[in-house]
Amino acid sequence: MEKKVLTLIVPAYNEEAALEAFYKETSRVEREMAELCEFEYLFIDDGSKDGTLAIIKKLHAYNRRVHYISFSRNFGKEAAIYAGLENASGDYVAILDADLQDPPALLPEMWRAVTEEGYDCVGSRRVTRAGEPPIRSFFARAFYKLINRISKAEIVDGARDFQLMSRKVVDAILSMGEYNRFSKGIFGWVGFKKKWLEYENIERVAGETKWSFWSLFKYAVEGIIAFSTAPLMISILLGIALCAAGFVMAVVLLVKLIAGAPVTAAGGLTLLILLVGGLVMVCIGISGQYLARTYLEVKKRPIYIIGEAELENSYK
Ligand code: UDP
Ligand code: MG
Repeated sequence: MEKKVLTLIVPAYNEEAALEAFYKETSRVEREMAELCEFEYLFIDDGSKDGTLAIIKKLHAYNRRVHYISFSRNFGKEAAIYAGLENASGDYVAILDADLQDPPALLPEMWRAVTEEGYDCVGSRRVTRAGEPPIRSFFARAFYKLINRISKAEIVDGARDFQLMSRKVVDAILSMGEYNRFSKGIFGWVGFKKKWLEYENIERVAGETKWSFWSLFKYAVEGIIAFSTAPLMISILLGIALCAAGFVMAVVLLVKLIAGAPVTAAGGLTLLILLVGGLVMVCIGISGQYLARTYLEVKKRPIYIIGEAELENSYK
C-alpha cells in the first residue's frame, strides 16, 4: 500500500534565522515517522524582506519534496495559512510555525490521533504563557473570555494554529472563503471531532516575534467582529440607556421648573454633551467597523497574490 502523505504548511515571514533549525528538527521527526507517512513541505514566504526565500530555495534544491509559494508582499499569517491549505496535496495537512514554537515532535502523536483514534483534527494549546510579557498575557486572557461569551464559535484560550487535520477538514476550511480571516475562529466554526494536545510554552528558536501589542489588539478586534455581532447590540443598548437617562433628567428639570427652583444647567449640560457625544462616536465606530468589513468582503479581493512558486512534483 502506498504511504500516506503529510503536507507541512509553514508560514514564514523574515525567518532566515530560524528556518534551518526548523528543517533539521522536522527532518528528524520525518525519519522517526518514516514507517507511517511521507512528508511534503509547503513553505509560504509571506513577503519576507530577508533571506527567507533564498533558504527555502536551497532546501528545495536539496529536497524535491520542499515546495514553496512566495507572496508578492506581506499578506499576513492568515493569508499564508489559506494559501497553504489551498495548495497542499497531502492526504493529511499540518500547519506549523517556522520558529519551532510549535514542536514538530508532537506530529507522531497527532498522526496517531487522526489515523488510529478516529479524530478528524488535532489541535494544540499552550497551557502556560511563560516568557511572555505579563501585560500581554493579561489582555490575551481577557480577550478569550470576552469572545467566548459573545460568539458561537468555540475559541479556545491558548490554542495555537499548530494542528494536523484530514482532507475533509481542509475542504471545510477552504469553503469559508472570507477575506477577513480569523483562523482561530474558523477552525472552531467548522466543527468536527477534535482532539487537543497540551504543552508548555516554548520560546522561539531564533529571530523575533512579528506581533506588537497594537497588532495583537487589531487581531483581537478582527476576531470579535468576524465571529460576533454582539458589539452592535451593545451600541443599541447604550443608546436605550442614554435615552432613558435623558428622559429622567427631563422629568427632573420639569419638576424643578414647576416648583420654581433655580435651574443652573450649564455644568451638567457640558457633561451631558461630552458623554452623549462620546457614546455616539463609539456607536458609529462600531457600526463603521462592520461596514468596513462588509466593504472588503463585497470587493472580493484575492486573499493573497503569488509572486513566484514552486509546486511541481506535488501529488496534485
Ligand atoms: N508570520 C507570517 N506572516 C506575518 C507574521 C508572521 O507568515 O505577517 C509567520 C511567522 O514567520 C511564524 C508564524 O507566522 O512562522 C508565527 O509568527 P510569530 O512567531 O511572530 O508569532 P508568535 O509566535 O509570537 O505569536
Ligand atoms: Mg512564534
